Amino acid sequence: MTTENKKTSLSFEVFPPKKDEEFENIFPFLKELAKLNPDFISCTYGAGGSRAGKTIEIASFIQKELGINAIAHITCVGFTKTDLEKNCEALKAAGVGHVLALRGDRPQHMTDEQFNSREFFYATDLVRHLKEHTTLQISGACYPEKHFEAPSLETDLKHLKEKVDAGVTSLVTQMFFDNDCFYRFMEKVRDIGITVPVHAGIMPITTAKQIGTTVSLSGSSVPKELADLIANYGENREDMRKAGIDYAVQQIRGLKEHGVDGIHIYSMNRLKTTTEICELI
Ligand code: FAD
Repeated sequence: MTTENKKTSLSFEVFPPKKDEEFENIFPFLKELAKLNPDFISCTYGAGGSRAGKTIEIASFIQKELGINAIAHITCVGFTKTDLEKNCEALKAAGVGHVLALRGDRPQHMTDEQFNSREFFYATDLVRHLKEHTTLQISGACYPEKHFEAPSLETDLKHLKEKVDAGVTSLVTQMFFDNDCFYRFMEKVRDIGITVPVHAGIMPITTAKQIGTTVSLSGSSVPKELADLIANYGENREDMRKAGIDYAVQQIRGLKEHGVDGIHIYSMNRLKTTTEICELI
């Protein structure tokens, strides 16, 4: 599908800086990000529910001070129902009305028992609870290459449909590097009757190290073109950065031509890279 008139939304993901002494740096960064006119900015939630207050503080700043739609991530892992209620009250007080409801990653220190005794087991359970007890707008995550625990893409899609039917009004994808894979996924998503907007998650790969960390954790496959690029430029910091930006820009241009609902850039809190990409697209 080629849609020239359709507006593709633009959004960013940011995360709360891990060190307390670096926390304040996020605010000038967000002010600069705001100049790129995103439709929304989402803020992650530390694995296991750590630093929940920081996510709310950042989301509140985005919403109230910058006047940009903020989405606060929340997770089942690390949350009891009581914690969740407190968190929802804090979100309300902070003026944040939109969440990305997730199952959550398992923190390294968490035992099987702790992980499996969470009160909301799947994101869908959290969505149902939020829908019943709050007026929050709810988004959810999806996986063009299937979630790593799902036995098949079909099973994963079946659960995704349940999540959307429970009250999710938009989806954000896991990062992917092969647009064809995303287009095949979208055909299946629409075939099973999911009609909500799907924001395509783009992660700029600007260092070779990212492939070994972020990307391998995400379960996303690395196409030959990207692997070659890392092999050719990985040793040279600046060349790798330029090549990684170029790869992300080509991906985004292709997606826009294809009429994707939205582009969601995993900013990794990097201003220069995010700005350069936005200027080029
Ligand atoms: P779910 O939708 O619950 O799915 C998890 C698995 O369970 C899938 O395999 C699914 O098929 C399966 N499943 C669902 N329902 C059922 C059912 N009824 N019966 C059997 N199986 C079922 N993690 C964080 O900790 N903090 C963040 O801020 C964060 N942000 C993210 C943002 C995006 C855009 C994405 C894509 C991921 C993010 N994650 C984050 C990671 C996410 O928490 C993990 O990928 C997690 O493993 C799955 O979360 P989910 O909400 O997709 O889970």
